[in-house]
Amino acid sequence: MKYKSKNDFLNTVVDKYKDQQEFHQAVEEVIGSIWSTATKNKKYMQANILDRIIVPDRSIIFRVPWVDDNNNVQVNLGYRIQFNSSIGPYKGGLRFHPSVNLGILKFLAFEQVFKNSLTGLNLGGGKGGSNFDPKGKSDREIMRFCHSFMDELFRHIGRRTDIPAGDIGVGAKEIGYMFGQYKKIKNVFSGVLTGKGTNWGGSLIRPEATGYGLVYFTINMLETQDDALEGKTVTISGSGNVAQYACEKLIELGAKPVTLSDSSGFIYDPDGITQEKLEYVKKLKDSRSARISEYAKKYKVKFFANQNPWSIKCDIALPCATQNELDLRDAKKLTKNGCIVVAEGANMPCTKDAVHHFIDKKILFGPGKAANAGGVAVSGIEMSQNSTRIPLKREQVDNLLKGIMDKIHSTCVDFGSQKGFVNYVDGANIGGFVRIADSMVDQGVV
Ligand code: NDP
Repeated sequence: MKYKSKNDFLNTVVDKYKDQQEFHQAVEEVIGSIWSTATKNKKYMQANILDRIIVPDRSIIFRVPWVDDNNNVQVNLGYRIQFNSSIGPYKGGLRFHPSVNLGILKFLAFEQVFKNSLTGLNLGGGKGGSNFDPKGKSDREIMRFCHSFMDELFRHIGRRTDIPAGDIGVGAKEIGYMFGQYKKIKNVFSGVLTGKGTNWGGSLIRPEATGYGLVYFTINMLETQDDALEGKTVTISGSGNVAQYACEKLIELGAKPVTLSDSSGFIYDPDGITQEKLEYVKKLKDSRSARISEYAKKYKVKFFANQNPWSIKCDIALPCATQNELDLRDAKKLTKNGCIVVAEGANMPCTKDAVHHFIDKKILFGPGKAANAGGVAVSGIEMSQNSTRIPLKREQVDNLLKGIMDKIHSTCVDFGSQKGFVNYVDGANIGGFVRIADSMVDQGVV
């Protein structure tokens, strides 16, 4: 083998992709788990899977010009990273956020490869987006941006090639504008995007799926300790799609969510966020410019400016905002306060040190690629409804979602059990990897 050790391999990744810290972090986490599985397998070594699996099939970067409401021409960068298609067409969200760059999208696409594999569906991994900031933009500006973004993206996607969905900054509205433009350019009505409106091919439960799935996975983890969700106090970060529907399912199942946040701070509602209060948040956050501090004013609770919710005592913590939002200091506060479960609704919200701390303390830690896979799972179900043209009922989709989350959980237990403790990070990484690696071996050097 050309590498002396795992660290030697990781050092070459850092050297090759100098400015892509989030990508290094994601690769390090996966390689940390799979190194021994990969290097002990002769077929994987002969096919050089390790070197091949960390390079995307292709990375597309393009100009997105658009006209703002004052008639000024604006330009953003658009991206689509098609990372690995060994088990199916590329699938993964589009993120519109000013922080978007190649390194962030490569980390997200890389994670997506393993996540999609874990679902058991035939979905490859990809991710895309733009450094466009939807905050403070009018609907017309967002529409013009989405149309221009699709003016280039349409060349690279298709229902059998690459099927994007939403992510931060991209919800049903943006998917609608992009779908409309794709249809206009190609003159085909196809399931080329998921997260569509239910009138035009979207699946019931798709908006809810990531948050609901996160709670189902949390319940599965608790059950390994003969514990249950009911009555547990839960801190949540974020107040967007994933946070809202995680909160909704927690309320329905008798847990007590007490925090929500956004990039300006968090609210703490010690009495618990109720469905009625959550409906207020959903309406409020229809506008991306609205701030969660409004909740504090309306319900007379405390707002903590520029802080995250991890200092609040809880049984369960669900980071649902963005990458690296929970560091070692936060992790220590959580375990000191008695937190027994951390499940990642966001992608890679916990730093490497925070994850190590949770595993050292042997608390239940669910990594994003397993715990938040419900969204892509229902996207896969949306694709199959588009193919058969037969829409499923709400309960049918919800049951399929539960079944997939159960299956992901058992894969993690199968591959991650270590002397009475389940290391879900290893379980998810190895479980996801083996399917991809075997498929790459089957398909030869492509
Ligand atoms: P939304 O755009 O709906 O919401 C994002 C939320 O996170 C907002 O409350 C936002 O606050 C907050 N946030 C974003 N960036 C930051 C930041 N830099 N610092 C603090 N808060 C921030 O996105 P989603 O809910 O869809 O996505 C949230 C996370 O879940 C992401 O990591 C995404 O990749 C992941 N995910 C999403 C899936 C989905 O189906 N949507 C599927 C699987 C994972 P503000 O309004 O102030 O920006």
